[in-house]
Amino acid sequence: MDGLMMDYQLNVPAILRRGEQLFGDREIVSRLPDRSWHRTTYADFGRRTKQLALALRNELGLVDGDRVCTFAWNHHEHLETYIGAPVGGFVTHTLNIRLHPDDLTYIATHGGARVLIADKVLWPLVEPFRDRVGFEHVIAIGAGPTPDGTIDYEELLATQNAADWRDRDIDERAAAAMCYTSGTTGRPKGVVYSHRAIAIHALTLTSSIAMACDDVCLPVVPMFHANAWCFPFSSILAGVKHVYPGQHLDAPSLLDAFESEKVTISAGVPTIWMGILQALDAEPDRWDLSAMRTMMIGGAAPPRAMIEAFGERHGLHITHGWGMTEMCPLGTVSGVRGQEAGLAPQEAYDRRALQGPPIPFVEIRGRGEDGFIDWNGVALGELEVRGPSIASAYHDSPDTDDGWTDDGWFRTGDIVTIHSDGYVQIQDRSKDLVKSGGEWISTVALENTLMGHPAVLEAAVIAVPDEKWTERPLAVVVFREGRSADAEELRAFLAPHFAKWWLPERFEVIDEIPKTAVGKFRKTALRERFS
Ligand code: ADP
Repeated sequence: MDGLMMDYQLNVPAILRRGEQLFGDREIVSRLPDRSWHRTTYADFGRRTKQLALALRNELGLVDGDRVCTFAWNHHEHLETYIGAPVGGFVTHTLNIRLHPDDLTYIATHGGARVLIADKVLWPLVEPFRDRVGFEHVIAIGAGPTPDGTIDYEELLATQNAADWRDRDIDERAAAAMCYTSGTTGRPKGVVYSHRAIAIHALTLTSSIAMACDDVCLPVVPMFHANAWCFPFSSILAGVKHVYPGQHLDAPSLLDAFESEKVTISAGVPTIWMGILQALDAEPDRWDLSAMRTMMIGGAAPPRAMIEAFGERHGLHITHGWGMTEMCPLGTVSGVRGQEAGLAPQEAYDRRALQGPPIPFVEIRGRGEDGFIDWNGVALGELEVRGPSIASAYHDSPDTDDGWTDDGWFRTGDIVTIHSDGYVQIQDRSKDLVKSGGEWISTVALENTLMGHPAVLEAAVIAVPDEKWTERPLAVVVFREGRSADAEELRAFLAPHFAKWWLPERFEVIDEIPKTAVGKFRKTALRERFS
């Protein structure tokens, strides 16, 4: 017997409709490059979003499924593109502004970009890849002169009248957005989010952290990272006031914004929160953060001491999330209502340092050497996940099937224990990458380039813990007989090929890199020695 329910499409247009119909007067506030605040409402945002969607089709000739790249900070225009492209039937493809131009060129080209929408303030970073991609149209956001050969964003919107808009009932399985993720080896890989995955995930996030229409949400996590953890979509569903920090991500600017806009929920990587904690420790009475309900940390493990310091010294609550670009991205969450009932504060901090139990519609299991691990908090295995907001393949990458098991679960590359109550605890990572300030650095790419230096025989790059950045790369090198080079020379050798923040500060010279039985670098031994 079939259920007799409507075949209602879970899509981004439905999210926008809800926001406009129910929360038209809610604010969307963004900090502009000159540090002033721009204020608008959901009603105005809805109008402009439709103008953009109309312009992409009518003025620029885009057709269903075309990719619209963004290269921008978090602000209201980026939000308009986030929603406007999928509402119009197109796909938002967020480009990470911190990547090297070679990677940006590859990612935009591989993703099939037709249009680029970029911040004028980021133009020095746009120029090095813009012409290499062959965008048909480049649109510039913000005040100031419009760069040659580009269309001004406001002028583009002004060509259309929102009254001409007719909502399109887009198939929920169609692509709405895409985002590339770094691979251990090989090229970055494109994750393609469907409307349905985003809608379900946005709803799950909303309920997981109990977002409501009296909340004020400031995502520090960039919109070019995995849907800004879905906060822009969840915020519209819940009708919260949005606050976007633009390019002003230093701790005092963020704290000023938390105070003046009465922010109740924020989210970012540990590096951001480490800076905030230091600023609060230095001037504990400077900011009134009494409105703040929870600050979500994810993307890398927050130290337990940081979670405790926020609680004990500043009365601020941390929610800890684990996730991946492939998962929309949230997978588990720790420190939400109910989880710590009856625990003493110290026990609660212990628990919140774990990654937490899976959110609804994320299923987990751990694969050990001899089958699936017991949920006993001791047995180690690779975490595998499945659910409606988890990628089933990468965009146009037929040789990446090994990311999934034969029965269709996604292999996360995170080595975990699972506790009896479903709490996941990340113990290690099988991915050979460094996560610095929430951004990936490929150790393999650094090694391969280093081994091209005439004095270097072998090079291995490992992640070492770092208080500010969570991890930094450390390069271990073996020189050819009779040859050597100092750290300065090796850094200079790497510099043309990588973004500056990829370059290791530390180079250690050893006689031989320890190897496994099959001759691979035994990085665990190096990590033990140099961490
Ligand atoms: P995101 O944009 O959420 O950082 P990525 O796909 O870039 O997503 O990175 C996902 C990986 O980051 C995970 O597989 C894991 O290795 C690491 N990670 C994310 N969150 C946490 C966390 N809370 N604790 C430990 N590691 C984490």
